[in-house]
Amino acid sequence: MGYTLRLVVTPHCNFKCFFCYREGTACRESSLLSCEDFVSLVKNFAAIRPLTKVRVTGGEPLLYRDLVPLLKALKCEFPFLDVGFTTNASTPDRLLYIARVFSNGPLFLNISLPSLQADKFERITRSSRYSEVMSSIERLIAEGFTSNVSINFVFMPGMNDSELPAMVDFAQTNNLRLKVICLTVNEFNRAEIDSFGIKPSEESLIRDKIKGLGYIQVGSAQTFMKGKHCVKVVNCFAHQPIPYFEMFKTFRIYYDGRIGISGDYDGFIRPLDLSDPRKAITNILCDLEKYVKSDTSQEVTNG
Ligand code: SF4
Repeated sequence: MGYTLRLVVTPHCNFKCFFCYREGTACRESSLLSCEDFVSLVKNFAAIRPLTKVRVTGGEPLLYRDLVPLLKALKCEFPFLDVGFTTNASTPDRLLYIARVFSNGPLFLNISLPSLQADKFERITRSSRYSEVMSSIERLIAEGFTSNVSINFVFMPGMNDSELPAMVDFAQTNNLRLKVICLTVNEFNRAEIDSFGIKPSEESLIRDKIKGLGYIQVGSAQTFMKGKHCVKVVNCFAHQPIPYFEMFKTFRIYYDGRIGISGDYDGFIRPLDLSDPRKAITNILCDLEKYVKSDTSQEVTNG
């Protein structure tokens, strides 16, 4: 199975979602990586491990000045790589500009949409840009970009769980894939989530609700289909990075030159020595993968 790299290009965001994971972004900003640094690190990673997917993320990647050059360089260096980014879609003109720039080749867009109700959206994101987000989605649909767009819906019991049928219907009607993401609770969002009285979402409950909407589970336990429409259920395994890593083989490279494994957990983040990136990446990969293996075998031995 190939690896996924998430490029965390900025810690900044114009939203303040109370559930934001902020994984790995508690570190102070030191020297920020340039577009060329990111591309060089991706190339070095791809020379060491099979790479199948790159997702640019943040914070909000649309706030990263070099987003377009970075995406262009990735598409040019790796024509067969699955490249995309995750966005809150709150700046429609910039998002549409980027979608048009890459209209000749697939560029995957994950749009975070925690509610279809303006007031609830504003409570969750602490932003008043609901109409801009919906305008982005409408314009992407009108310009025919739907096949490369997914909606990310973080499922929060007691906050937006009752909206699941409406969200599924919205995605299906507009021919957009939907990812229903189990709420991850970590050290950055726990206090806020508790203050809203929200419990972590149970994956099995979400799966049952989706089946109740007429979707059939196919292949993995995560994928559900109804006709041609696809809904995925994604669980980030808060504080259990090993199973997440084992399933998704995902590393993160941070804006300030650190690398870690994904899974909403900061324990595996290491600084990268950019003077010899290949050696640094090799050492870190071996170190992290050795840890994952020993932890897994310990679990097996203990269990
Ligand atoms: S839009 Fe994303 S990065 Fe920004 S605050 Fe919300 S969850 Fe965090």
